[in-house]
Amino acid sequence: MATHHTKMLIIGSGPAGYSAAIYGARAMLEPIVVQGLQPGGQLTITTDVENYPGYREVVQGPWLMEEMKAQAEHVGTRMMWDTIVSVDLEGGAPFKAIGDSGDEYIGETLVICTGAQAKWLGAPGEQELGGKGVSACATCDGFFYRGKKVAVIGGGNTAVEEALYLTNHSDDVTLIHRRDELRAEKILQDRLMKSPKISALWNKTVKSFEAGEDGALHHLVLEDTQTGETSTLEVDGAFVAIGHAPATELFKGKLAMDESGYLDVEPGTPKTAIPGVFAAGDVTDHVYRQAVTAAGMGCMAALDGERFLAAREDAEEAVSEAAE
Ligand code: FAD
Ligand code: NAP
Repeated sequence: MATHHTKMLIIGSGPAGYSAAIYGARAMLEPIVVQGLQPGGQLTITTDVENYPGYREVVQGPWLMEEMKAQAEHVGTRMMWDTIVSVDLEGGAPFKAIGDSGDEYIGETLVICTGAQAKWLGAPGEQELGGKGVSACATCDGFFYRGKKVAVIGGGNTAVEEALYLTNHSDDVTLIHRRDELRAEKILQDRLMKSPKISALWNKTVKSFEAGEDGALHHLVLEDTQTGETSTLEVDGAFVAIGHAPATELFKGKLAMDESGYLDVEPGTPKTAIPGVFAAGDVTDHVYRQAVTAAGMGCMAALDGERFLAAREDAEEAVSEAAE
């Protein structure tokens, strides 16, 4: 068991965590990144990334995250193979976190970048066909289904927005919902109903995702929730949009969060209600959820962390000068 001290403790190693680390290291804060169970974050489970600025050719998600990590290390970040299991934010800075390894991390500032995970149906074929027709992000992968048949599963705002977004690429979008009533806002429902490119299948659940001979998604097996009848729907792409779960269990009762568990921050900033504690990326963002927005927020958190430390130093100097 060891104790690690740093001016900036970063929990999470997705685009938000690595960007915070790059900025924190260049500000001489000698950041520590505790990487968690998914080093590199969500992009390590995808293939083609075509919308992260700086690369004219398609890049691979795992490669992009390796590059970010290498950049963060190059400028002086310490990477830890550990997962935080508890945090102590009481009494303000410094903040204490305990790792799964038993190690203790003490940070003068804390940047929370634990991300959010898409919820999955758990149906057969869903995980096996991930990246081969099954996705949880239309903004990320919709482009790969230009002119093809796609389906979206879910009935909330995300599902309807994903279906509407997909009409930019496909003229044949099917929304599959387990009830006959959408949970999405009325305005989105109206747009959905008006779109000639979208049709809806009500009272249907996906029993399985089936591959064709080429190993990619070929069709969905559906079950009617009213009659129990099964049917099939041929599609090239299926987007599961049944919600996301932010990784905020650690912070329950310690930091304010909305009803879905996303951490509350001062609007337009990564500042939580506790001075010196910042949240960046998908853990605080249920709207955009993109690598580039997460990276941007990571940068903001590090800059605000640096300012927090500078202000504290100024205040300490003023107190000691007054005492002399
Ligand atoms: P994440 O990437 O979710 O990283 C969270 C990190 O927190 C992980 O490293 C995890 O190990 C760590 N962590 C969690 N809990 C703990 C803990 N207790 N202790 C320590 N560490 C912890 N976006 C795009 O812009 N373009 C795309 O093409 C694209 N494609 C995608 C494809 C897929 C399949 C998925 C799932 C997402 C895709 N996204 C894409 C979205 C993008 O991946 C996310 O918006 C982005 O990764 C969010 O970054 P983040 O740093 O906030 O969190
Ligand atoms: P959500 O509101 O929780 O909706 C999830 C949908 O998936 C529901 O329709 C639900 O069906 C369905 N579902 C859940 N589990 C399922 C399962 N196992 N099988 C089949 N269907 C399942 O999630 P969300 O749409 O991601 O939205 C999350 C939050 O973000 C909400 O507060 C939302 O308002 C917000 N959001 C806002 C915007 C925006 O403001 N533009 C955009 C996106 C999200 P039931 O309806 O039957 O429960």
